[in-house]
Amino acid sequence: MELTHEQQMLHDTVQAFMEQELYPHEEEVDRLGEVPIDLGRQIEARSKEVGLFAANLPESVGGGGLDYRCMALIEREYGKTSHALHSWIARPTELLLACEGDQIARYLDPCVTGDKRELFALTEPEAGSDIMSMKSNARRDGDDWILNGSKHFISGPVMPDFAIVFAATGEDETPRGPRKRITAFLVDVGLDGFSIQEGNRCVSYRGYQTFQLHFSDVRLGPGQILGEEGRGLELSGKWLGMGRIWVGATCCGKAERLFDLAAEWAANRRQFGKPIGQFQATGFKLADMAVELKAADLMVANAVEKADRGTMTDADAAMVKLYCSEMLNRIADNTVQIYGGMGLMEELPIQRLWRDARLERIWDGTSEIQRHIISRSILRPLGA
Ligand SMILES: Cc1cc2nc3c(=O)[nH]c(=O)nc-3n(C[C@H](O)[C@H](O)[C@H](O)COP(=O)(O)OP(=O)(O)OC[C@H]3O[C@@H](n4cnc5c(N)ncnc54)[C@H](O)[C@@H]3O)c2cc1C
Repeated sequence: MELTHEQQMLHDTVQAFMEQELYPHEEEVDRLGEVPIDLGRQIEARSKEVGLFAANLPESVGGGGLDYRCMALIEREYGKTSHALHSWIARPTELLLACEGDQIARYLDPCVTGDKRELFALTEPEAGSDIMSMKSNARRDGDDWILNGSKHFISGPVMPDFAIVFAATGEDETPRGPRKRITAFLVDVGLDGFSIQEGNRCVSYRGYQTFQLHFSDVRLGPGQILGEEGRGLELSGKWLGMGRIWVGATCCGKAERLFDLAAEWAANRRQFGKPIGQFQATGFKLADMAVELKAADLMVANAVEKADRGTMTDADAAMVKLYCSEMLNRIADNTVQIYGGMGLMEELPIQRLWRDARLERIWDGTSEIQRHIISRSILRPLGA
């Protein structure tokens, strides 16, 4: 994975940015359980100065125009720190590229400039992995839609300005039986009937907020549909796939940070008169960790290359998400083990990185759901 001159410069810019703007605040944010708003705004402003803000979106809409290879490079660096901090460097959802007409000025443009923040609201209290069981629904009323339902675990760095909300707008008959028509709506915070509050507090990425959204007869004009009515899941499909690749890249970054800490400790911590790394039990752990990290990096690189060529499949993305997140958790657990008791002490970052790592096997589709996608891709062509 040789880097071109431009990619190396991008990598060095992100690394320097992280060292100056993010790493110094990790412990405080974890202890407080929040990112002080001034700090968040400062990260936002500085990331605009160095050109990292909205780097994922095309130049034609004012974004940084980075390809997937470059995005993977920077997501890997971001993964070394807390999501609570690096999410202030906005990567607005690519779903917003589906904005049309005056939606562009109301939603897409302000997300590119940082004047607005969006949430992606799919999960419900009773519909997590099983998104088709969602209860949120919108019914027609003349030209308008009336939205009802609830969402939870909807996350972001800060109280948003609007949410992209998925709701059922009817049912289609399919060869496999009736299937909900899912539509994506742009829903402004502050609309009558839309309440939003801070949700449960997560022990991974302390300070990254989750929100609960409730909709009670929220009236939405026809211009609030993102994309086409009934095509919400198709619209989000590509973005969800790339989201899984970014999870993979961030997992590799965090795993590398843990690995470096583990190797240093193994080389310097002495027991029985020698460095603990010289005991095969520790040295072989490091060897396995290095191999797994390399394999994970290669999987991300392969998927990104396919994505840039337009040939990445759902199963490719699921494999990356599954392997990289599980690899990270094995490396995090081994690092705690190599540190012994010190690995669990608040004075060192190991326990925080270990806690942060745990979420990666759950969000953006759990490991079990990724295995389901992969096994389906094997069995369906065989008629099973
Ligand atoms: C911090 C955080 C931030 C999040 N941010 C967002 C966000 O911004 N937007 C959003 O829409 N969602 C978000 N989520 C939701 C996240 O995507 C869900 O938590 C995840 O999809 C799992 O759903 P669940 O938690 O309801 O678990 P469940 O679906 O209840 O699953 C519980 C367990 O059952 C297993 N399981 C379920 N179905 C199957 C099956 N068919 N086969 C085998 N095992 C199965 C799961 O793998 C899991 O182990 C966030 C979650 C967290 C924790």
